[in-house]
Amino acid sequence: MRTRLDHLVTSALQHGSAVPAFTCYDFTTALAVVAAAEEAGRGVILLVAPKTAATPNGMRLTGALRGLADAAAVPVAVQLDHATDLKIMADAVAAGADSVLADGSSFPYEENIALVRAARELLGPDVVLEAELGGLAGDEDRAFGADQSGVRVAGLTDSAQVEDFVSRTGAELLAVAVGNVHGKYKGEPQLRWDVLQDIAVRTHIPLVLHGASGIPAEELVKAASMNVGKVNFNTELRTGVLSTLQEQLPAHRSDGENLQGLLGHWNHSAASFASTTLATLSR
Ligand SMILES: [Zn+2]
Repeated sequence: MRTRLDHLVTSALQHGSAVPAFTCYDFTTALAVVAAAEEAGRGVILLVAPKTAATPNGMRLTGALRGLADAAAVPVAVQLDHATDLKIMADAVAAGADSVLADGSSFPYEENIALVRAARELLGPDVVLEAELGGLAGDEDRAFGADQSGVRVAGLTDSAQVEDFVSRTGAELLAVAVGNVHGKYKGEPQLRWDVLQDIAVRTHIPLVLHGASGIPAEELVKAASMNVGKVNFNTELRTGVLSTLQEQLPAHRSDGENLQGLLGHWNHSAASFASTTLATLSR
């Protein structure tokens, strides 16, 4: 069923849990995620990656996710992730996204604020806006570089900027950099709970943790207590699906090019990751 992303997140936080958001590069993964959410009786967020949105079929996928969300038995929101291009934001909203991450975090502070304000101006009051403060290292779509090593943490969110940033952008959610990275971590992830705590006391809007793949479950369960109401997963979901496909591909090729059977394994891998994550975040 259709729901506002901020309402979904706020209501989860009131019950002491956070809502997972999963990057869906394709419809098979999205079907699996929504089925897992229905099974768990919990809301979920489907993310459209900016690189997907920019492809010729990006808006068709966004529209298909909207249809899936509307028909779901649980609240499902569709968000355009990490957008800097105002035209893509407007197109995604027209195609069915109900929320946008207007991400100016790689820009200087004032330009970051200006991007979120321009997005609000363009998209109107009904589109839920997430903004991001602090630089998140890594690549959303690629887990590691050619040397297969992971990503080091970049700049942390400056908690002293939080109040000003939130009030001037008018964002409904705030993505933070507290030791999290996109892709694969170099070494053990070290979340800075002290920085997160510092941020949480300075704003009432829900916080968002990106790059949650690789952060142990015993750390993630603490998120909601720090007002982190949305947690984004991408790498771990992809890794699971790709290794399942690699393992199952030869047998399904020899079994009469059995794509249908292979998609069943794809679905199972994505659904079980989504189920585990939904359970972890609502513990
Ligand atoms: Zn992200």
